[in-house]
Amino acid sequence: GSWLGMLGGGQLGRMFTVAAQTLGYRVAVLDPAERCPAGDTADLHIRAAYDDAAGLDQLAERCAAITTEFENVPADSLRRLARDRRVSPVADAVAIAQDRIVEKRFISSLGVPVAPYVAVLAEQDLADAPDDLFPGILKAARLGYDGKGQARVSSREEARAAFHAFGNVPCVLEARLPLAFEVSVVVARGADGQSVAYPLSENVHRDGILAISTVPSRQASDELAERATAAAIGVADGLKYVGVMCVEFFVLDGDRLVVNEIAPRPHNSGHYSINACVTSQFEQQVRALAGLPLGDTAMLAPAVMLNILGDIWFDENERSREPDWSAVLAVPSASLHLYGKESARRARKMGHVTCVAAGELSVDAAAAKVAHALGIAFP
Ligand code: ATP
Ligand code: MG
Ligand code: MG
Repeated sequence: GSWLGMLGGGQLGRMFTVAAQTLGYRVAVLDPAERCPAGDTADLHIRAAYDDAAGLDQLAERCAAITTEFENVPADSLRRLARDRRVSPVADAVAIAQDRIVEKRFISSLGVPVAPYVAVLAEQDLADAPDDLFPGILKAARLGYDGKGQARVSSREEARAAFHAFGNVPCVLEARLPLAFEVSVVVARGADGQSVAYPLSENVHRDGILAISTVPSRQASDELAERATAAAIGVADGLKYVGVMCVEFFVLDGDRLVVNEIAPRPHNSGHYSINACVTSQFEQQVRALAGLPLGDTAMLAPAVMLNILGDIWFDENERSREPDWSAVLAVPSASLHLYGKESARRARKMGHVTCVAAGELSVDAAAAKVAHALGIAFP
């Protein structure tokens, strides 16, 4: 069989690897860790830094086409691989999503609204920031995820302190918006420029980390879902994107949409597609990468996905315990996905559970049982 390559060894790479192997491919994963979720599942694990020339050349030698699961992969590594291999997404698209300043400018240039913000390159930018950005959130422009590299700031003074605490790196200061709710759209775009979109996902975050996705959304109207989907496809077109990406939106006042950010890869809010859609977002990533026809994104059943964070491995006294997986699997429509990470830490994504509606049991009733078994708050 032919080989596909993956830069990055996390859970997104692992789920890609499984999907690729199901379609008969072999997968090589490049990641520096001795063991990692994707490396453990792959046919070959190249242990090298993401910018290691010898490692990258080994990956390119082996693989017909290469993708990434890691938002902060050096864009130059993608460029190096692209010299003689098909690479998707391309470095330029990933580079835009890696920098919040560039990303917001790009999305605005497409006529799609973003949260009010200013770029903060120096302290003076905070002094000049409009009053209505407070209370706000200062976000480092690069390298943040799961709410890391962000500080909630109520005043200019707090913003200055946070800017210093981040080491004066480039940031954006965003207004803290009164969110009615949050949604996201996963899009797959082929090399022919045709896109398919997954149903709108409604997302609950806790402490900056995705906790629950509900699909279809309960709060979004069909009209809102159509607008969000059109905007997400517009962003994919604007990037000339090839592969799977996600656009995260804030919904304000019931029906106003602003883009929060884009992710140049499959997204946590699309994990439900493994169990609840005809084609999963990871199979779609394989298809787009390999130049195969894109699959049907239709849902087979309504779904609720619950993220499993490392927190549930610890009791009130910080003593370690194993969560009760049997109780989860006793819920007939629950699918358990564990990422094989070696150690549980608080706030670390360890797995997820997707529930679908099945027979007498509603999807909410199933999710409530799973949440109760794991000690996760639902809804
Ligand atoms: P990830 O890449 O893992 O999605 P991140 O670190 O890039 O996360 P953001 O998406 O910027 O973080 O923010 C995480 C969450 O924090 C958002 O989904 C939202 O719930 C909240 N949040 C972020 N920015 C704002 C804002 N301007 N106003 C209100 N809430 C916000
Ligand atoms: Mg992000
Ligand atoms: Mg986000």
